[in-house]
This record gives sequence, C-alpha cells and structure tokens, in this order.
Amino acid sequence: MKKLLYQYTQKHKVLLCLIAILMLAILCLLIFRHIHSYGEWELYKEPSCNSYGIERRYCNCGEMQDRRLDMLDHTEGDWEFDEINSLRQKRCTVCQSIITTESLTNHSHTFGEWITVQQVTCTTNGLQSRACDCGFKQEEIIKAPGHTFTDWETIIYASCSEVGLKKRSCPCGHSEIQEIDTLEHIMGNWILNGIYKEYPCINCGDILKSEAIQTSSGLNINGSSIAGIGTCKDVDIVIPEEVDGVCIDSINKKAFQYSNSINSVIIPNTVKFIGDYAFYEASSLKNIHLGNGIYDIGEHAFGSCANLQEISIPEGVTVLRENTFEYCSSLHSVSLPNTLESLEALVFFYCSNLTDIYFNGSVDEWNSIEKHENWSVGTDSYTIHCTDGNIKS
Ligand SMILES: [Zn+2]
Ligand SMILES: [Zn+2]
Ligand SMILES: [Zn+2]
Ligand SMILES: [Zn+2]
Ligand SMILES: [Zn+2]
Repeated sequence: MKKLLYQYTQKHKVLLCLIAILMLAILCLLIFRHIHSYGEWELYKEPSCNSYGIERRYCNCGEMQDRRLDMLDHTEGDWEFDEINSLRQKRCTVCQSIITTESLTNHSHTFGEWITVQQVTCTTNGLQSRACDCGFKQEEIIKAPGHTFTDWETIIYASCSEVGLKKRSCPCGHSEIQEIDTLEHIMGNWILNGIYKEYPCINCGDILKSEAIQTSSGLNINGSSIAGIGTCKDVDIVIPEEVDGVCIDSINKKAFQYSNSINSVIIPNTVKFIGDYAFYEASSLKNIHLGNGIYDIGEHAFGSCANLQEISIPEGVTVLRENTFEYCSSLHSVSLPNTLESLEALVFFYCSNLTDIYFNGSVDEWNSIEKHENWSVGTDSYTIHCTDGNIKS
C-alpha cells in the first residue's frame, strides 16, 4: 500500500512538473509575444477598368498585408456604327472592350443639314458632317478648289535690259509674282540728230544705228530761211541746221514750189516754220521728214504733191491750215500730233488714197479737235487710229 502510494506520488510529481513547464512556457509566450505593427497603406498597383488594384502595408518584422482596390468604371466612348451588322456599340476608350451594343435593324438614317466642321480653303480640303437622330454621323471631305486668280497685272514693265514683274492674286489673299522676259530691241523710224540719222529702239529708246548724212549745199538762203533750191542738184535734199554760222529756222513761202526733181527732203530740228505753198506741186516728192522743232505749217504747203506717200506731223503743231495736203493723191498715211487743236477747211481735199490717220491721243481728244466741216472732203474711207480705239469714217 505504501509502495502504491509512493508510485502514485512519483507519477503525480512528474505530471505536476510537466504542467509547471507548460505553464511557464505559456507565461513566457504571453510575456514576449510580438504584435505586428503595420505602416500606412501604400498603392502597390493602380486599379483599371479591367483589373483590381492592390494596396500593401508592411510591419517592421517584414510581414506584409495586401488589400484589394475596386476596379474603375469603363470610360464610355462615342457610338460606333456597324452598318453591315446593323448595330451600334460603345467601347471603353481605355480598355477597348465593348460596353454597350444596340441593334439598328430596320433603321434607315435620316440626316439633317450638312454642318461645316473644317472650312475649305483654296488649298486645303474642308470637312462637313451631318448626323442622324440615332447618333450616326456622316463626314464628307470638301475638295480644295485651288486658287482663282485674277488676270496678270504688270507691276514693273520689262525693258530691253531688265526683266519686268507681273502679279496675280486670289481673293483668299494668296498672290503670285512672275518675271516678264526682257524685250527685244525693235528698231523704230529714224530721227534726226544734227547730221545723224539715228534709229532708236521703240521699246527703250537706245540708239541702235546711227548714220551720218551729208547736208545739201547750193540752196538759196535768205537770212535764216531757205528761200529756194538754188543751184542744189540733190534729189534727196538734206536742209542744213546752219549755214555760215546762221541757224536755219524756216522754209520760206513757195521755196520748193514746182520743184519736180526732188525725191525726198529732210528738215532739221532747228526749223520752226514752213511757209505757204513751200512744197506746192513738188510732183516727184515721195518722202518728207519734218524736224521736231516745227510748230507752224503754212496753207497749201504740200498741196498737189502727187507722189507723197506718208507724212508725220510733229508734236507742237496746233493747226493744219487750209488745203495743206490738197490733191496728195498718193498720200495714204498721216500721223497727227496730240497738240493738234484745229483742222481747217480742205486740209485733205481730194486725198483720194488716204486710208489711215494715226492720232497721238484718245478718241475723246480727237473728238475735241475743232474741225471745219470740209476738212476731209474728197477722201474715201479712212480709219482714225487713236490710242484707245479706232474711228472709221
Ligand atoms: Zn510584425
Ligand atoms: Zn474599360
Ligand atoms: Zn440613324
Ligand atoms: Zn486662293
Ligand atoms: Zn530696246
């Protein structure tokens, strides 16, 4: 009995010991137990419209914790139309997944007015659109039509030595400038410069050719006037600008009247007056050059010059006196100056071949010249060429 009791006591002691150890261990665990202490939640992964986001936090011990963030809403785009399958749908503009689909079976679009989206210009296409109540939008390109230019306008006239410039513009404000080629020299009629016949370019005035001429000698001189043919045998008479230091300034009355051997006459720029009948019935006279100093021509001065072909009256002459060119039956072309104010009676009396009168002025200026009603009696049909138009007789 005693032994049994002893055994029991031994067992009991072991058990007690074990319990005490266990209690001690539990006590230790309770005293030294670690409680996690987490930091702030931090964004670990952004949520999107098709995936969750994650927030994460850490304890000093290295332990971490995650929590889920809700997905974002889809971002709804515009209607997209699928004509073939008769439906429309909206996609998310972020993830591109289809969010809404609607059937359009048996719907036919009814469009409103075209609305300009992008204004068309001359060089860039425009855009217009129209919409149906269903939301369908149709777009159409408006083709750029290109510029509508005005005619070329000369800014700088070309000369024989320099190019010109021309410009054209479009109402849009765009303009183009182009060069105008230089002109070619064109030799004009000669002009008298002292004893030289000079041929200027009609475009630029440059002298293209110069010819010395021999003045006639033996003419009958009276003071500063030519009084007659004298002993001169020339058929092409060149009146000198001066004789023995005296300037020749006029052709006397009847100076070459009835001279039937002369073919041409050149009158220098120093001569101012041509007297009445000066060349009356000079029947073989074909060409006459009047210097540019002349401003008065007498009556009948070239009357009955039956071979005279053409004549140019210089600027400065204001009156063509009575019968100046009467019976010049070969005269076909006359040039008249802008200074002309008056045409007296019978100026071109029976100039039966006169076809062209070149007037250095406008039609209005021609009409304002005082004309005797019989100034052209005996002529056939002629044209008056003015600078801005022609007048037919
Ligand atoms: Zn911890
Ligand atoms: Zn989405
Ligand atoms: Zn529609
Ligand atoms: Zn334009
Ligand atoms: Zn030229």
